[in-house]
Amino acid sequence: MSRCLAERSIDHVLLERGEVANSWRTERWESLRLLTPNWQSRLPAFSYDGNDPNGYRTLPETIAFIAAYAKAISAPVRTHTTVTSVRSADAGYLVRTNRGDWRCRTVVLASGACNIARVPSFGARVPPCVAQLTAQSYRSPGQLADGGVLVVGASSSGTQIALELQRSGRPVTLSVGEHIRAPRVYRGKDLEWWMDAAGVLDERYDQVEDVARARRVPSLQLAGTPDRSTLDLNALTEAGVRLVGRLAGITEDGKAQFAGSLRNMCALSDLKMRRLLDLIDEWARTNGLDGTVEPPDRLPPTRVEASPPLGMDVVKSGIKTIIWATGYRPDYSWLELPVLDRKGMVSHDGGIVCSPGVYLMGMQFLRRRKSALIDGAGDDARDLSAHLAAYLDNRAPAARGSQRSTKGHDDWHRER
Ligand SMILES: Cc1cc2nc3c(=O)[nH]c(=O)nc-3n(C[C@H](O)[C@H](O)[C@H](O)COP(=O)(O)OP(=O)(O)OC[C@H]3O[C@@H](n4cnc5c(N)ncnc54)[C@H](O)[C@@H]3O)c2cc1C
Repeated sequence: MSRCLAERSIDHVLLERGEVANSWRTERWESLRLLTPNWQSRLPAFSYDGNDPNGYRTLPETIAFIAAYAKAISAPVRTHTTVTSVRSADAGYLVRTNRGDWRCRTVVLASGACNIARVPSFGARVPPCVAQLTAQSYRSPGQLADGGVLVVGASSSGTQIALELQRSGRPVTLSVGEHIRAPRVYRGKDLEWWMDAAGVLDERYDQVEDVARARRVPSLQLAGTPDRSTLDLNALTEAGVRLVGRLAGITEDGKAQFAGSLRNMCALSDLKMRRLLDLIDEWARTNGLDGTVEPPDRLPPTRVEASPPLGMDVVKSGIKTIIWATGYRPDYSWLELPVLDRKGMVSHDGGIVCSPGVYLMGMQFLRRRKSALIDGAGDDARDLSAHLAAYLDNRAPAARGSQRSTKGHDDWHRER
């Protein structure tokens, strides 16, 4: 967004509570690699120029990539500046920070979709002798006591963490709810390549049948590893991870209760994967790729044990740690505008928020299926910066002119 605003000569500032790429520096586990290939982090006027386009960035590489982008576009970032409130004021907004106040006519909320790890309320009944972490506070196996681990959630975070912990020698039980299975490589090409080429990732929010549902869909079970292997439940079973159903509750005396829907969840996930691959095959056929790529080759159905346990005494079964990989949510505790719905999410129409001049970025399916990926930010920013520029032009042409005046940036923007 900063790059797109700069292209339109719209003066702006980025307020960041930490360093550039803060979420990657402080909220991810150490071994994480991007699940999107290197070529797929295309940002406005910046893309991958290394010699491994199909590789997957490590965490340090991801941080370096984003920091290099901020430098390349001379992004006007104020680091270590925490926004503590945004409220309406006069003809725009008053933004309070730990380093002084700002006044502005428009605000872009780009504070992230994953600020807080979601933990079900029954997590409070986990016996105190069992440690609890989330996918956000988990760093590496060395952080955990020896002994069993219950990982709750089988999307990309949960499956990756479960495999790492199982390989560290701790017996892992994985509680599986709704999830989306996907092969890493299909017909010789990365699944992300197919989804990009076939237009799946460009599908627009106003073209899907149920956008509210589409915004809740969990992340694909994908991992970026040097061997490009598929990380699905069968791979986890082979590694020794035990699968159980969705964690439905924990009783007062510390018994975990699992839903009996594991088999159905897996069958549904297999079905959705088949549908996605059918769509890809159809696209390959109509675009003349058959014969130039490998023939279709489908994964076998997900294997589920005959009678997975429906309950487990957490302490007696040797669980020493529970890791909640049950999703994330944004934190808007600082947003003092009447724009939140009853679930605490910002109401918006493709990133245009109901408060005039306020925009949203980085949310799941904001404008396109790819909106919450690094690769999706560019197209959304192009669209939303165009709307923002028109808003400034229509609303206060004279005021917009003053942004381009020779006055010092701080003179008109900032209040001390
Ligand atoms: C575990 C995990 C793995 C992922 N893997 C991939 C992947 O492989 N490929 C991919 O494309 N995407 C991946 N994503 C999604 C990725 O995080 C997003 O694409 C990207 O981070 C979105 O960038 P953003 O700037 O919108 O949000 P963020 O990266 O969350 O940045 C928001 C920034 O706002 C700052 N902030 C928040 N509140 C305040 C405040 N009050 N005041 C000041 N600053 C504030 C934060 O410090 C942060 O730096 C992953 C996400 C997670 C959680």
